[in-house]
Amino acid sequence: METPRRPNIVIILTDDHAAHAISAYGSVVNETPRIDEIAREGVRFDNCFATNALCSPSRASILTGTYSHVNGVSTLVTPIDASQPTFISQLKEAGYRTAMVGKWHMGEHEGNTPEGFDYWDILIGHDGQGEYWDPLFLSAEGERIAEGYATDIITDLSLDWVESLGGDDPWCVLIWHKAPHRPWEPHPKHADLFTDPIPLPSTWEDDYATRTSSARRAAMRIAEHLNAEDLKQSPPEGLSYEAEALWKYQRYMEDYLRCVASVDENVGRVIDWLRERGEFDDTVLMYSSDQGFFLGDHGWFDKRFMYEESLRMPLVLSYPRAVPPNQVHSGIVTNVDFAQTVLEFAGTGNHPRMQGRSFAGDLTGGPAQPVAEGMYYRYWEHDDVFHRAPAHYGWRTDRYKLIYFYNDGMGIPGTGVFTYPGEWELYDLEADPEELHNVYFDSAYARIREELKVQMWMEQERLGDRPHPSQPRPQLLEELAAGRER
Ligand code: CA
Repeated sequence: METPRRPNIVIILTDDHAAHAISAYGSVVNETPRIDEIAREGVRFDNCFATNALCSPSRASILTGTYSHVNGVSTLVTPIDASQPTFISQLKEAGYRTAMVGKWHMGEHEGNTPEGFDYWDILIGHDGQGEYWDPLFLSAEGERIAEGYATDIITDLSLDWVESLGGDDPWCVLIWHKAPHRPWEPHPKHADLFTDPIPLPSTWEDDYATRTSSARRAAMRIAEHLNAEDLKQSPPEGLSYEAEALWKYQRYMEDYLRCVASVDENVGRVIDWLRERGEFDDTVLMYSSDQGFFLGDHGWFDKRFMYEESLRMPLVLSYPRAVPPNQVHSGIVTNVDFAQTVLEFAGTGNHPRMQGRSFAGDLTGGPAQPVAEGMYYRYWEHDDVFHRAPAHYGWRTDRYKLIYFYNDGMGIPGTGVFTYPGEWELYDLEADPEELHNVYFDSAYARIREELKVQMWMEQERLGDRPHPSQPRPQLLEELAAGRER
């Protein structure tokens, strides 16, 4: 019997691309026909979430199949120990040729740069963020400037590498873009797009009335916190506060969506190239982003919070040889699951340290692992005085979301606020999908609130994480323990 061919693997990962700026996800602000094509040829995931909605941590979780407290990349300033096991090191051991091109953002120094790759070529500079134009790259050969637009260059380098390969062994390439990350510098060929007024999200005027002080304190408001580099123009003189906020929203979204237009074009280039090579059917092609983004939702830009727009990762996947087309996957999956899923598709064993759940079986009709009952989230940055989103963790099930905000960092300069007691939020996503009503103190939710605390506590224990010392042990846990003793 002929052994089935092992698939090639292409993971296109963008930075800060929200699912609600993808037409396959129902975007009302733009069209992304080529990303949609992957969903049509395969699967769209409606509940894929980042376990820490920040660039570097999400990348580390994707590579290692572990949570931030295990892989050590909990913030933007905690570089990766690149010697730890990843799905790449597992693939390489199994005979795959492997490459990483583009935004790495997990360190630029020895010990932090990519390991386990036959070829790597990463954006450096600006604390690992890289540039949109004439970006500086670092490879095993050293540093160089590549002339042109980063989104195009990253695709070029990736395809060139595959074309340089001889032999029949399968390959895996990570095409990891900077776009559409701040400061949103589009290619001039897209300068005419999105000049009509862009629709406002329904939560634009969220007044944070029932939220904690943590949400109110965040410095991520479009009206107040976009800077001159972000906007690239000064607002017209004499506008009211509301009118200026609308002007800033339009300016921000124009550039953001134009950057996405280049991404979509380059996704199309990869699809067309795979088809021309006759390899589309035998390739696991994934498109995702390291986390979501606020596009004026709740008045914000940026990410960090466990709220839906930031938590949700777009994920579409095609692999026609094994995965039927036009599927929608609605179970909970996370970035920690990617590693084991890829390894299952490759027919390669995963590493025992990995903490995720392969969802390959959900898609192929093969044996599938039990579905996740919820997902655990933790954002670790205490001291980001620029965005002022406090550290928090939480637990999201298909219906509820519990969040615990805490902070024990340096506090907020000039405010005299150095630390504050923990604060809870609870959302009923079925009754309130836009998360406008914190029901933590609503007596109708008293029981579920305590049950969710127990679930989160047990998940933290299972994953080897620890609650913050300011969080009391859940009372229901004591009652359950006492009940067992009687
Ligand atoms: Ca990001």
